[in-house]
Amino acid sequence: MLKTRLALGCAAAVMFSWPALAQDQDFSAVQIETQQVGNGLYMLIGSGGNIALSTGADGSVLVDTQYAPLNGKILAAVKAAGGGDVKYVINTHWHGDHTGGNEPLGKAGAVIIAHDNVLVRLSSEQFMAAFNQKSPPAPAAARPVITYPQRTTFHLNGNVVNLVHVNNAHTDGDSIVHFTNANVIHTGDTYMKDVYPFIDVGSGGSLDGFIAASEAVLARSDANTKIIPGHGALANKADMQRFHDMLVACRGLIKALVDQGKTEDEVVAAKPTAEFDAAWGMGFMTPEQFTRFSYQAMKR
Ligand SMILES: [Zn+2]
Repeated sequence: MLKTRLALGCAAAVMFSWPALAQDQDFSAVQIETQQVGNGLYMLIGSGGNIALSTGADGSVLVDTQYAPLNGKILAAVKAAGGGDVKYVINTHWHGDHTGGNEPLGKAGAVIIAHDNVLVRLSSEQFMAAFNQKSPPAPAAARPVITYPQRTTFHLNGNVVNLVHVNNAHTDGDSIVHFTNANVIHTGDTYMKDVYPFIDVGSGGSLDGFIAASEAVLARSDANTKIIPGHGALANKADMQRFHDMLVACRGLIKALVDQGKTEDEVVAAKPTAEFDAAWGMGFMTPEQFTRFSYQAMKR
């Protein structure tokens, strides 16, 4: 969606700044774009993480909520898509650009669901070293009221929806959300289309976890699967396969240097990901950040 490093840098400042900076951002110009991905199933693109919307007789279900100031626009998009009241909210992980809109939805009666560790992190102050950013505990109405440890299933609006925890990928509380009969998967931030991943080392993330998460998505995908990434445009299995193969290659290149006893700065200086940087390193994460966070997670 955003093409330049500068624009993505600005997005990054907003993305991981919940809620303090979210209040400072001007959301007035943000438009919510709605893209149909299945029968009664939509991808909503605005500011922050992509949302999946399921509509039907059981009420509307949202996967992630972007930011609280966008709540009115998101609800208008739900209504325009034919959806009723939002009854359920699923959070793919704790970051504020995916959970910032929880509070107004929780206050209006939506049941919020996430992995166990999302509640743990939303219940206490968090510090993201990567952005030198503190996040205060979330208000009570914004916290999940149902949490799960490894896997759970919803039967809503004619969909069988698998929530599957993938360990220590982007964070320690990631879920992928698989609308099985619709053949649609929301990956949360375990996948952002065509850019290096953000390994939130402080939240338990790791490169190994990203590779395992991409393998979990691939195992659930076929040529017709629609993959909703945490950020970026709608993707497919071939996109995910390229991402996976790039991660495996980079892990090998970085680990070889780690095994030689190189320091973090020496590994960065060796530019182990150079052959991939033109294709993957022009987005949210620079090659240096990707290399540093990969190293830090390997040494943890
Ligand atoms: Zn995130």
